Amino acid sequence: MARSPDTIAALATPAGTAAIAVVRISGNDTSRIGGDIFGEFPPPRLVHRANYRDRSGTVLDDVLVTFFKEPNSYTGEDSLEVSCHGNPFIAQRVLEDLYARGCRPAGPGEFTRRAFLNGRMDLSQAEAVMDLIHARSERALAAARRQLDGALGRQMQGLIDGVLDSLARVEAYIDFPDENLPKEDLEAVRSELRAVLRDADRLLATRHYGELMRNGVKTVIFGEPNVGKSSLLNRLVGRDRAIVSPEPGTTRDFIEELVTVGPHCLRLIDTAGLSEAPAPLEKLGMAKTLERIADSDLLLLVVDATHPTPLPPAGLKLDPARTLRVLNKSDLFLGPLVPEPSARFETLAVSALTGAGIDELREALARRADGFQAAVGADSVAINARHAHALSQAKECLGAALLKLESAPESELLASDLRGALDALGEISGRVDNEQVLDRLFASFCIGK
Ligand code: GDP
Repeated sequence: MARSPDTIAALATPAGTAAIAVVRISGNDTSRIGGDIFGEFPPPRLVHRANYRDRSGTVLDDVLVTFFKEPNSYTGEDSLEVSCHGNPFIAQRVLEDLYARGCRPAGPGEFTRRAFLNGRMDLSQAEAVMDLIHARSERALAAARRQLDGALGRQMQGLIDGVLDSLARVEAYIDFPDENLPKEDLEAVRSELRAVLRDADRLLATRHYGELMRNGVKTVIFGEPNVGKSSLLNRLVGRDRAIVSPEPGTTRDFIEELVTVGPHCLRLIDTAGLSEAPAPLEKLGMAKTLERIADSDLLLLVVDATHPTPLPPAGLKLDPARTLRVLNKSDLFLGPLVPEPSARFETLAVSALTGAGIDELREALARRADGFQAAVGADSVAINARHAHALSQAKECLGAALLKLESAPESELLASDLRGALDALGEISGRVDNEQVLDRLFASFCIGK
Protein backbone atom coordinates (compact mmCIF):
# COMPACT_ATOMS: atom_id res chain seq x y z
CA MET A 1 0.00 0.00 0.00
CA ALA A 2 1.27 3.46 -0.89
CA ARG A 3 2.25 5.30 2.26
CA SER A 4 2.34 9.04 2.75
CA PRO A 5 5.43 10.10 4.66
CA ASP A 6 3.69 12.59 6.94
CA THR A 7 1.25 12.12 9.73
CA ILE A 8 -1.45 14.74 9.40
CA ALA A 9 -3.84 16.25 11.92
CA ALA A 10 -6.81 18.59 11.64
CA LEU A 11 -10.05 19.58 13.22
CA ALA A 12 -12.80 17.52 11.57
CA THR A 13 -15.71 19.53 13.01
CA PRO A 14 -16.47 23.22 12.34
CA ALA A 15 -14.48 25.85 14.18
CA GLY A 16 -16.42 27.50 16.99
CA THR A 17 -18.21 26.56 20.15
CA ALA A 18 -20.11 23.25 20.12
CA ALA A 19 -20.84 20.24 22.29
CA ILE A 20 -17.82 18.37 20.97
CA ALA A 21 -14.90 18.98 18.62
CA VAL A 22 -13.27 16.07 16.78
CA VAL A 23 -9.59 16.10 15.92
CA ARG A 24 -8.45 13.60 13.34
CA ILE A 25 -4.94 12.18 12.91
CA SER A 26 -3.75 9.92 10.12
CA GLY A 27 -0.40 8.50 9.06
CA ASN A 28 2.48 6.19 9.97
CA ASP A 29 3.28 7.86 13.27
CA THR A 30 -0.27 7.71 14.58
CA SER A 31 0.34 4.74 16.88
CA ARG A 32 3.53 6.18 18.31
CA ILE A 33 1.99 9.62 18.90
CA GLY A 34 -1.22 8.17 20.32
CA GLY A 35 0.79 5.86 22.57
CA ASP A 36 2.84 8.79 23.89
CA ILE A 37 -0.29 10.79 24.69
CA PHE A 38 -2.55 8.12 26.10
CA GLY A 39 -0.14 5.46 27.33
CA GLU A 40 -1.69 2.09 26.71
CA PHE A 41 -3.43 1.99 23.37
CA PRO A 42 -7.07 0.90 22.97
CA PRO A 43 -8.00 -1.88 20.56
CA PRO A 44 -9.13 -0.61 17.12
CA ARG A 45 -12.65 0.75 16.62
CA LEU A 46 -13.49 0.84 20.31
CA VAL A 47 -14.17 4.15 21.95
CA HIS A 48 -11.87 4.73 24.89
CA ARG A 49 -12.10 7.44 27.52
CA ALA A 50 -8.83 9.08 28.50
CA ASN A 51 -7.09 12.22 29.68
CA TYR A 52 -5.31 14.08 26.92
CA ARG A 53 -1.93 15.06 28.37
CA ASP A 54 0.25 17.46 26.43
CA ARG A 55 4.02 17.08 26.22
CA SER A 56 4.52 18.81 29.58
CA GLY A 57 2.09 16.38 31.23
CA THR A 58 -0.72 18.92 31.62
CA VAL A 59 -4.20 17.47 31.15
CA LEU A 60 -5.78 19.44 28.27
CA ASP A 61 -9.14 17.68 28.38
CA ASP A 62 -11.06 14.56 29.24
CA VAL A 63 -11.60 13.01 25.77
CA LEU A 64 -12.93 10.02 23.87
CA VAL A 65 -10.39 8.34 21.60
CA THR A 66 -10.97 5.89 18.75
CA PHE A 67 -8.09 4.15 17.04
CA PHE A 68 -8.43 2.75 13.49
CA LYS A 69 -5.78 0.25 12.40
CA GLU A 70 -4.70 0.36 8.75
CA PRO A 71 -6.08 -0.61 6.30
CA ASN A 72 -9.47 -0.53 8.02
CA SER A 73 -9.75 3.20 8.39
CA TYR A 74 -11.18 6.02 6.31
CA THR A 75 -7.76 6.91 4.89
CA GLY A 76 -6.43 3.36 4.79
CA GLU A 77 -3.69 4.42 7.24
CA ASP A 78 -3.45 4.18 11.02
CA SER A 79 -5.81 6.90 12.24
CA LEU A 80 -7.03 8.36 15.46
CA GLU A 81 -10.10 10.39 16.29
CA VAL A 82 -10.09 12.45 19.44
CA SER A 83 -13.40 13.91 20.61
CA CYS A 84 -12.82 16.74 23.04
CA HIS A 85 -15.16 19.29 24.59
CA GLY A 86 -16.25 21.71 21.90
CA ASN A 87 -14.34 24.74 23.06
CA PRO A 88 -12.21 26.05 20.19
CA PHE A 89 -9.46 26.88 22.68
CA ILE A 90 -9.22 23.20 23.76
CA ALA A 91 -9.18 21.93 20.17
CA GLN A 92 -6.49 24.48 19.32
CA ARG A 93 -4.28 23.36 22.21
CA VAL A 94 -4.74 19.71 21.24
CA LEU A 95 -3.74 20.51 17.66
CA GLU A 96 -0.72 22.55 18.75
CA ASP A 97 0.39 19.65 20.92
CA LEU A 98 -0.01 17.23 18.01
CA TYR A 99 2.06 19.50 15.76
CA ALA A 100 4.74 19.66 18.45
CA ARG A 101 4.76 15.84 18.49
CA GLY A 102 5.46 15.63 14.76
CA CYS A 103 2.11 15.86 12.99
CA ARG A 104 1.67 18.46 10.31
CA PRO A 105 -1.55 20.35 9.58
CA ALA A 106 -3.63 18.53 6.95
CA GLY A 107 -4.31 20.32 3.67
CA PRO A 108 -7.84 20.70 2.25
CA GLY A 109 -9.38 17.31 1.51
CA GLU A 110 -6.16 15.53 2.43
CA PHE A 111 -7.78 12.72 4.43
CA THR A 112 -10.04 11.86 1.49
CA ARG A 113 -7.15 12.26 -0.91
CA ARG A 114 -5.24 9.67 1.10
CA ALA A 115 -8.31 7.43 1.09
CA PHE A 116 -8.23 7.60 -2.72
CA LEU A 117 -4.46 7.09 -2.98
CA ASN A 118 -4.68 4.12 -0.66
CA GLY A 119 -7.44 2.53 -2.73
CA ARG A 120 -10.19 3.00 -0.14
CA MET A 121 -12.39 4.71 -2.73
CA ASP A 122 -12.26 5.78 -6.34
CA LEU A 123 -12.20 9.38 -7.47
CA SER A 124 -15.94 9.57 -8.07
CA GLN A 125 -16.51 8.37 -4.51
CA ALA A 126 -14.08 10.93 -3.19
CA GLU A 127 -16.12 13.58 -5.01
CA ALA A 128 -19.28 12.08 -3.54
CA VAL A 129 -17.91 12.68 -0.05
CA MET A 130 -17.81 16.38 -0.89
CA ASP A 131 -21.26 16.24 -2.46
CA LEU A 132 -22.63 14.51 0.61
CA ILE A 133 -21.23 17.13 2.94
CA HIS A 134 -22.50 20.01 0.81
CA ALA A 135 -25.85 18.56 -0.28
CA ARG A 136 -28.62 21.15 0.16
CA SER A 137 -31.62 18.95 -0.51
CA GLU A 138 -33.00 15.46 0.02
CA ARG A 139 -32.45 14.62 -3.65
CA ALA A 140 -28.87 15.87 -3.63
CA LEU A 141 -28.20 13.78 -0.53
CA ALA A 142 -29.66 10.65 -2.11
CA ALA A 143 -27.61 11.14 -5.28
CA ALA A 144 -24.42 11.73 -3.29
CA ARG A 145 -25.15 8.56 -1.29
CA ARG A 146 -25.55 6.54 -4.48
CA GLN A 147 -22.30 7.88 -5.86
CA LEU A 148 -20.52 7.18 -2.58
CA ASP A 149 -21.84 3.63 -2.69
CA GLY A 150 -20.01 3.34 -6.01
CA ALA A 151 -22.96 3.61 -8.43
CA LEU A 152 -21.09 5.85 -10.84
CA GLY A 153 -17.90 3.82 -10.47
CA ARG A 154 -19.82 0.65 -11.37
CA GLN A 155 -21.42 2.25 -14.41
CA MET A 156 -18.03 3.52 -15.54
CA GLN A 157 -16.58 0.04 -15.10
CA GLY A 158 -19.32 -1.23 -17.42
CA LEU A 159 -18.20 1.23 -20.09
CA ILE A 160 -14.54 0.46 -19.51
CA ASP A 161 -15.21 -3.30 -19.80
CA GLY A 162 -16.90 -2.73 -23.14
CA VAL A 163 -13.92 -0.79 -24.49
CA LEU A 164 -11.43 -3.27 -23.02
CA ASP A 165 -13.19 -6.18 -24.74
CA SER A 166 -13.01 -4.35 -28.04
CA LEU A 167 -9.39 -3.41 -27.52
CA ALA A 168 -8.51 -7.00 -26.73
CA ARG A 169 -10.10 -8.15 -29.99
CA VAL A 170 -8.33 -5.46 -32.01
CA GLU A 171 -4.92 -5.86 -30.36
CA ALA A 172 -4.88 -9.58 -30.97
CA TYR A 173 -4.43 -8.83 -34.66
CA ILE A 174 -1.94 -5.99 -34.49
CA ASP A 175 1.07 -8.32 -34.56
CA PHE A 176 -0.33 -10.12 -37.58
CA PRO A 177 -0.55 -7.46 -40.28
CA ASP A 178 -1.44 -10.04 -42.91
CA GLU A 179 -4.58 -11.03 -41.12
CA ASN A 180 -7.67 -8.84 -41.10
CA LEU A 181 -10.01 -8.64 -38.19
CA PRO A 182 -12.48 -11.48 -38.85
CA LYS A 183 -16.00 -10.40 -39.67
CA GLU A 184 -17.49 -11.64 -36.40
CA ASP A 185 -14.89 -9.71 -34.35
CA LEU A 186 -15.48 -6.61 -36.43
CA GLU A 187 -19.20 -6.87 -35.85
CA ALA A 188 -18.71 -7.54 -32.13
CA VAL A 189 -16.45 -4.49 -31.74
CA ARG A 190 -18.85 -2.30 -33.68
CA SER A 191 -21.87 -3.21 -31.58
CA GLU A 192 -19.87 -3.07 -28.34
CA LEU A 193 -18.62 0.44 -29.09
CA ARG A 194 -22.09 1.60 -30.07
CA ALA A 195 -23.44 0.29 -26.79
CA VAL A 196 -20.70 2.12 -24.88
CA LEU A 197 -21.55 5.33 -26.77
CA ARG A 198 -25.22 4.95 -25.86
CA ASP A 199 -24.34 4.47 -22.19
CA ALA A 200 -22.01 7.47 -22.32
CA ASP A 201 -24.85 9.55 -23.79
CA ARG A 202 -27.21 8.36 -21.07
CA LEU A 203 -24.72 9.46 -18.43
CA LEU A 204 -24.06 12.78 -20.18
CA ALA A 205 -27.80 13.44 -20.16
CA THR A 206 -27.66 13.57 -16.34
CA ARG A 207 -25.17 16.43 -16.39
CA HIS A 208 -27.73 19.19 -16.20
CA TYR A 209 -29.60 17.48 -13.39
CA GLY A 210 -26.31 16.98 -11.56
CA GLU A 211 -25.67 20.68 -11.79
CA LEU A 212 -29.17 21.53 -10.56
CA MET A 213 -28.74 19.28 -7.58
CA ARG A 214 -25.31 20.49 -6.65
CA ASN A 215 -25.93 24.21 -7.20
CA GLY A 216 -29.70 24.54 -6.86
CA VAL A 217 -32.33 24.92 -9.59
CA LYS A 218 -31.73 28.40 -11.04
CA THR A 219 -35.06 30.14 -10.51
CA VAL A 220 -35.22 33.68 -11.79
CA ILE A 221 -37.84 36.03 -10.34
CA PHE A 222 -38.68 38.72 -12.84
CA GLY A 223 -41.39 41.15 -13.81
CA GLU A 224 -42.11 44.86 -13.97
CA PRO A 225 -40.73 47.20 -11.30
CA ASN A 226 -42.61 47.30 -8.01
CA VAL A 227 -44.75 44.19 -8.50
CA GLY A 228 -43.25 42.63 -5.36
CA LYS A 229 -40.36 40.51 -6.66
CA SER A 230 -38.08 41.25 -3.73
CA SER A 231 -40.94 40.75 -1.27
CA LEU A 232 -41.63 37.36 -2.85
CA LEU A 233 -37.98 36.34 -2.56
CA ASN A 234 -37.97 37.38 1.11
CA ARG A 235 -41.17 35.42 1.70
CA LEU A 236 -39.83 32.27 0.04
CA VAL A 237 -36.50 32.54 1.85
CA GLY A 238 -38.29 33.17 5.12
CA ARG A 239 -36.36 36.29 6.11
CA ASP A 240 -35.58 39.74 4.81
CA ARG A 241 -32.84 39.26 2.29
CA ALA A 242 -33.72 41.71 -0.46
CA ILE A 243 -34.51 45.39 0.00
CA VAL A 244 -38.20 46.05 -0.38
CA SER A 245 -39.16 49.56 -1.28
CA PRO A 246 -42.18 51.38 -2.62
CA GLU A 247 -39.74 53.09 -4.99
CA PRO A 248 -39.56 51.25 -8.31
CA GLY A 249 -36.13 50.00 -9.39
CA THR A 250 -34.54 49.20 -6.01
CA THR A 251 -33.01 45.88 -7.08
CA ARG A 252 -30.02 46.88 -9.15
CA ASP A 253 -27.75 43.94 -8.42
CA PHE A 254 -28.88 40.37 -8.33
CA ILE A 255 -29.66 38.76 -5.07
CA GLU A 256 -29.31 34.99 -4.89
CA GLU A 257 -30.56 32.77 -2.11
CA LEU A 258 -30.80 29.02 -1.72
CA VAL A 259 -34.17 27.73 -0.54
CA THR A 260 -35.51 24.25 -0.09
CA VAL A 261 -38.85 23.32 -1.64
CA GLY A 262 -39.91 19.73 -0.96
CA PRO A 263 -36.93 17.50 -1.73
CA HIS A 264 -35.29 20.12 -3.98
CA CYS A 265 -33.01 23.08 -3.55
CA LEU A 266 -33.69 26.21 -5.60
CA ARG A 267 -31.29 29.04 -6.24
CA LEU A 268 -33.66 32.01 -6.24
CA ILE A 269 -32.43 35.01 -8.19
CA ASP A 270 -34.11 38.38 -7.78
CA THR A 271 -33.67 40.66 -10.78
CA ALA A 272 -34.00 44.30 -11.76
CA GLY A 273 -37.50 45.11 -13.02
CA LEU A 274 -38.28 45.04 -16.71
CA SER A 275 -40.04 48.24 -17.77
CA GLU A 276 -41.42 49.28 -21.10
CA ALA A 277 -39.54 52.61 -21.17
CA PRO A 278 -36.39 52.19 -19.07
CA ALA A 279 -34.10 54.99 -17.93
CA PRO A 280 -30.44 54.58 -19.10
CA LEU A 281 -29.23 52.97 -15.85
CA GLU A 282 -32.27 50.72 -15.80
CA LYS A 283 -31.42 49.54 -19.32
CA LEU A 284 -28.19 48.00 -18.06
CA GLY A 285 -30.03 46.17 -15.29
CA MET A 286 -32.63 44.98 -17.77
CA ALA A 287 -30.01 43.61 -20.13
CA LYS A 288 -28.55 41.62 -17.26
CA THR A 289 -32.01 40.41 -16.27
CA LEU A 290 -32.59 39.14 -19.79
CA GLU A 291 -29.27 37.25 -19.60
CA ARG A 292 -30.36 35.67 -16.35
CA ILE A 293 -33.71 34.69 -17.84
CA ALA A 294 -31.96 33.00 -20.75
CA ASP A 295 -29.70 31.09 -18.35
CA SER A 296 -32.45 29.99 -15.94
CA ASP A 297 -33.98 26.60 -15.21
CA LEU A 298 -37.27 27.98 -13.89
CA LEU A 299 -38.91 31.38 -14.14
CA LEU A 300 -41.26 33.17 -11.82
CA LEU A 301 -43.02 35.86 -13.81
CA VAL A 302 -44.39 38.18 -11.14
CA VAL A 303 -47.38 40.38 -11.96
CA ASP A 304 -49.25 42.88 -9.79
CA ALA A 305 -52.71 41.37 -9.30
CA THR A 306 -54.32 44.79 -9.00
CA HIS A 307 -53.41 45.68 -12.55
CA PRO A 308 -52.10 42.55 -14.27
CA THR A 309 -50.28 43.47 -17.43
CA PRO A 310 -50.28 41.23 -20.42
CA LEU A 311 -46.66 40.34 -19.73
CA PRO A 312 -44.25 38.88 -20.76
CA PRO A 313 -42.66 42.07 -21.96
CA ALA A 314 -42.68 42.54 -25.69
CA GLY A 315 -40.25 40.33 -27.55
CA LEU A 316 -39.46 38.04 -24.61
CA LYS A 317 -39.97 34.40 -25.50
CA LEU A 318 -40.73 32.26 -22.49
CA ASP A 319 -41.03 28.51 -22.32
CA PRO A 320 -44.34 27.70 -20.57
CA ALA A 321 -42.83 24.44 -19.27
CA ARG A 322 -40.31 26.46 -17.26
CA THR A 323 -42.48 29.42 -16.31
CA LEU A 324 -44.88 30.03 -13.44
CA ARG A 325 -46.91 33.23 -13.49
CA VAL A 326 -47.43 34.67 -10.04
CA LEU A 327 -50.19 37.20 -9.38
CA ASN A 328 -48.85 39.01 -6.34
CA LYS A 329 -50.59 41.45 -3.97
CA SER A 330 -53.73 39.32 -4.07
CA ASP A 331 -54.43 40.59 -0.51
CA LEU A 332 -55.59 43.84 -2.10
CA PHE A 333 -58.62 41.94 -3.39
CA LEU A 334 -61.41 41.26 -0.99
CA GLY A 335 -62.64 38.22 -2.86
CA PRO A 336 -61.20 34.67 -2.75
CA LEU A 337 -57.83 33.90 -4.36
CA VAL A 338 -58.89 32.94 -7.83
CA PRO A 339 -56.07 33.54 -10.23
CA GLU A 340 -56.98 35.23 -13.44
CA PRO A 341 -56.37 32.49 -16.00
CA SER A 342 -53.58 32.66 -18.52
CA ALA A 343 -53.72 30.71 -21.69
CA ARG A 344 -49.97 30.19 -21.73
CA PHE A 345 -48.71 29.90 -18.19
CA GLU A 346 -49.69 28.08 -15.04
CA THR A 347 -50.82 30.96 -12.84
CA LEU A 348 -50.99 31.22 -9.06
CA ALA A 349 -52.32 34.02 -6.88
CA VAL A 350 -50.19 34.88 -3.84
CA SER A 351 -49.54 37.63 -1.39
CA ALA A 352 -45.91 38.16 -0.49
CA LEU A 353 -47.22 40.49 2.22
CA THR A 354 -49.53 38.06 4.07
CA GLY A 355 -48.09 34.75 2.88
CA ALA A 356 -51.36 33.64 1.29
CA GLY A 357 -50.81 31.19 -1.58
CA ILE A 358 -47.10 30.76 -0.81
CA ASP A 359 -47.43 27.09 0.19
CA GLU A 360 -49.18 26.40 -3.12
CA LEU A 361 -46.42 28.26 -4.93
CA ARG A 362 -43.79 26.13 -3.17
CA GLU A 363 -45.66 22.99 -4.20
CA ALA A 364 -45.87 24.16 -7.79
CA LEU A 365 -42.15 24.92 -7.78
CA ALA A 366 -41.38 21.49 -6.32
CA ARG A 367 -43.49 19.84 -9.05
CA ARG A 368 -41.55 21.69 -11.73
CA ALA A 369 -38.26 20.69 -10.13
CA ASP A 370 -39.52 17.06 -10.01
CA GLY A 371 -39.70 17.25 -13.79
CA PHE A 372 -35.93 17.65 -14.04
CA GLN A 373 -35.40 14.45 -12.12
CA ALA A 374 -38.08 12.61 -14.09
CA ALA A 375 -35.99 13.26 -17.18
CA VAL A 376 -33.03 11.28 -15.81
CA GLY A 377 -34.78 8.59 -13.73
CA ALA A 378 -35.37 8.47 -10.00
CA ASP A 379 -32.31 6.49 -8.94
CA SER A 380 -29.93 7.64 -11.59
CA VAL A 381 -26.49 8.94 -10.80
CA ALA A 382 -25.96 12.56 -11.81
CA ILE A 383 -22.57 13.43 -13.18
CA ASN A 384 -20.57 16.59 -12.61
CA ALA A 385 -18.58 18.81 -14.98
CA ARG A 386 -15.38 16.77 -14.61
CA HIS A 387 -17.19 13.54 -15.44
CA ALA A 388 -18.90 15.21 -18.40
CA HIS A 389 -15.57 16.45 -19.74
CA ALA A 390 -14.02 12.98 -19.50
CA LEU A 391 -17.09 11.34 -21.07
CA SER A 392 -17.06 13.79 -23.97
CA GLN A 393 -13.39 13.06 -24.58
CA ALA A 394 -14.10 9.33 -24.48
CA LYS A 395 -16.95 9.82 -26.94
CA GLU A 396 -14.67 11.64 -29.36
CA CYS A 397 -12.19 8.77 -29.27
CA LEU A 398 -14.93 6.17 -29.67
CA GLY A 399 -16.43 8.07 -32.59
CA ALA A 400 -13.02 8.13 -34.28
CA ALA A 401 -12.58 4.43 -33.53
CA LEU A 402 -15.92 3.58 -35.15
CA LEU A 403 -14.95 5.49 -38.28
CA LYS A 404 -11.64 3.61 -38.51
CA LEU A 405 -13.45 0.37 -37.95
CA GLU A 406 -15.19 0.93 -41.27
CA SER A 407 -12.05 1.92 -43.17
CA ALA A 408 -9.02 0.25 -41.54
CA PRO A 409 -10.22 -2.19 -38.89
CA GLU A 410 -6.87 -3.84 -38.25
CA SER A 411 -4.88 -0.68 -37.70
CA GLU A 412 -2.82 0.26 -34.70
CA LEU A 413 -4.58 3.65 -34.92
CA LEU A 414 -7.85 2.02 -34.02
CA ALA A 415 -6.27 0.53 -30.90
CA SER A 416 -4.85 3.93 -30.08
CA ASP A 417 -8.31 5.54 -30.24
CA LEU A 418 -9.62 2.86 -27.93
CA ARG A 419 -6.78 3.47 -25.49
CA GLY A 420 -7.60 7.18 -25.64
CA ALA A 421 -11.18 6.37 -24.72
CA LEU A 422 -10.00 4.17 -21.86
CA ASP A 423 -7.74 6.89 -20.51
CA ALA A 424 -10.62 9.37 -20.59
CA LEU A 425 -13.07 6.96 -18.95
CA GLY A 426 -10.43 5.96 -16.43
CA GLU A 427 -10.09 9.57 -15.31
CA ILE A 428 -13.56 9.42 -13.79
CA SER A 429 -12.72 6.76 -11.26
CA GLY A 430 -8.99 7.45 -11.50
CA ARG A 431 -8.15 3.78 -11.94
CA VAL A 432 -7.22 2.28 -15.25
CA ASP A 433 -3.75 1.25 -16.24
CA ASN A 434 -2.12 -0.84 -18.91
CA GLU A 435 -1.84 -3.77 -16.56
CA GLN A 436 -5.59 -4.13 -16.81
CA VAL A 437 -5.53 -4.00 -20.59
CA LEU A 438 -2.90 -6.73 -20.70
CA ASP A 439 -4.72 -8.93 -18.20
CA ARG A 440 -7.85 -8.75 -20.23
CA LEU A 441 -6.07 -9.38 -23.47
CA PHE A 442 -4.29 -12.51 -22.29
CA ALA A 443 -7.30 -13.84 -20.50
CA SER A 444 -9.69 -13.75 -23.40
CA PHE A 445 -7.48 -14.49 -26.41
CA CYS A 446 -5.04 -17.10 -27.49
CA ILE A 447 -2.02 -15.03 -28.44
CA GLY A 448 -0.53 -17.76 -30.61
CA LYS A 449 -3.24 -17.45 -33.16
P1 GDP B 1 -40.02 44.82 -6.66
O1 GDP B 1 -39.58 46.14 -7.17
O2 GDP B 1 -40.81 44.06 -7.70
O3 GDP B 1 -38.92 43.99 -6.08
O4 GDP B 1 -41.09 45.06 -5.50
P2 GDP B 1 -40.89 45.15 -3.91
O5 GDP B 1 -40.81 43.79 -3.33
O6 GDP B 1 -39.79 46.12 -3.59
O7 GDP B 1 -42.29 45.72 -3.48
C1 GDP B 1 -42.80 46.93 -3.99
C2 GDP B 1 -43.88 47.44 -3.07
O8 GDP B 1 -44.99 46.55 -3.10
C3 GDP B 1 -43.45 47.53 -1.61
O9 GDP B 1 -44.02 48.68 -1.06
C4 GDP B 1 -44.01 46.28 -1.00
O10 GDP B 1 -44.30 46.42 0.38
C5 GDP B 1 -45.32 46.12 -1.79
N1 GDP B 1 -45.75 44.72 -1.83
C6 GDP B 1 -45.02 43.66 -2.21
N2 GDP B 1 -45.74 42.52 -2.15
C7 GDP B 1 -46.97 42.87 -1.72
C8 GDP B 1 -48.19 42.14 -1.46
O11 GDP B 1 -48.30 40.92 -1.62
N3 GDP B 1 -49.26 42.87 -1.04
C9 GDP B 1 -49.21 44.22 -0.87
N4 GDP B 1 -50.32 44.81 -0.46
N5 GDP B 1 -48.09 44.91 -1.10
C10 GDP B 1 -46.98 44.27 -1.51
